[in-house]
Amino acid sequence: MIYLDNSATTRTLDAAADAARTYMTTRFFNPSAAYSVAAETEKAVEAARARLALALGAKPDEIVYTSGATESNNAAISGALRAMRGKGRLIVGATEHPSAYEVVKAYAKQGYEVVEAPVNSVGAVDLAVLAALLTEDTRLVSVMQVNNEVGAINDCAAIYRMVKERTPEAAVHVDGVQGFLKVPFDAKDCDFYALSAHKFHGPKGVGALYVKTGVRFAGGQAGGGQEHDRRSGTTNTPGIMGMDAAVADYLAHLEEYRRRMAACKLRLARNLSGIRDVLINGPKPADGAPHILNISILGVRGEVMLHALESKEIFVSTGSACSAHKKGKNRILTAMGVTGARQEGALRLSLCPFNTLEEMDVAAAAIAEQTAFLRKYKRR
Ligand code: PMP
Repeated sequence: MIYLDNSATTRTLDAAADAARTYMTTRFFNPSAAYSVAAETEKAVEAARARLALALGAKPDEIVYTSGATESNNAAISGALRAMRGKGRLIVGATEHPSAYEVVKAYAKQGYEVVEAPVNSVGAVDLAVLAALLTEDTRLVSVMQVNNEVGAINDCAAIYRMVKERTPEAAVHVDGVQGFLKVPFDAKDCDFYALSAHKFHGPKGVGALYVKTGVRFAGGQAGGGQEHDRRSGTTNTPGIMGMDAAVADYLAHLEEYRRRMAACKLRLARNLSGIRDVLINGPKPADGAPHILNISILGVRGEVMLHALESKEIFVSTGSACSAHKKGKNRILTAMGVTGARQEGALRLSLCPFNTLEEMDVAAAAIAEQTAFLRKYKRR
């Protein structure tokens, strides 16, 4: 099997699965309980929180554990707005993931003015246009660090600076799901940051939300008051400790992992450039995130290529798994101006540090072979 759909999810590391198992079996205690073995579990969770905070340049009490980035994005947006007085303008990137995009859009029904920040032809938020959209009554700006379909990187530091200069009351929310650990980020460049363990070899169903000290936040669910009353619910110790093992592994190999993914991506892009009428969507391979390559094979529909590759045990996607069940146009590619045959032929290849250069050669050869075969049978 050659797995090239790591933006959809990654294989859980053995070390992460082992850690999760330990906190389900021998160390299963509720960290809120009063006896000492439970206190040890609590200590382990707090050590994990400190490690995650350090990776972001944050303080441990700025980290709220959640069930993943869908919850983190929802909580950040709703939690920021609930804590503010008065309605106003909300700005959301045109290519945001539905777990941010749809949440912001829904506030239009509640009397907010929702505006989309357009992206340029490579999929990054256009800073000049965003600057012009920032009105005095702007309450929230929601952008992603790395786009999950094309790997475009937003200049979050510049966005944060610009927002705080022009409209300091507005909160800046960054969806860091595809960027965390893969592209450098510092928590000073946002008010809220969402991340999810299953995108970096941790378990599914666990993630975190960074909430900057001093930023008003009335989010999270009510209940037993866990996570400093910011997200109630019995602490997901297996998930948190599994995520911690994945964070620890990534941090121990950070530069090496980034270098490996970038080398594989460049090799894959170079191999594919030899096929006629194959175009790259998004940034130039050397410029974007190290793990996402989006191409269009003109004349071959993405789904047809996906299934042709599947028969060879090569797994890719046509776009985001979260939109796979939604028929119709691809909102992300459309926002970048990628339409028509180019959009229909789009394929996303997303990598992890454990892919190899050889896999890039085998996958590209299979794509070349299938392209030649499928183009022969194309209706004219
Ligand atoms: N944001 C982005 C950019 C994503 O790629 C995803 C996962 N597809 C999410 C949010 C949602 O994350 P989760 O699966 O943890 O809910």
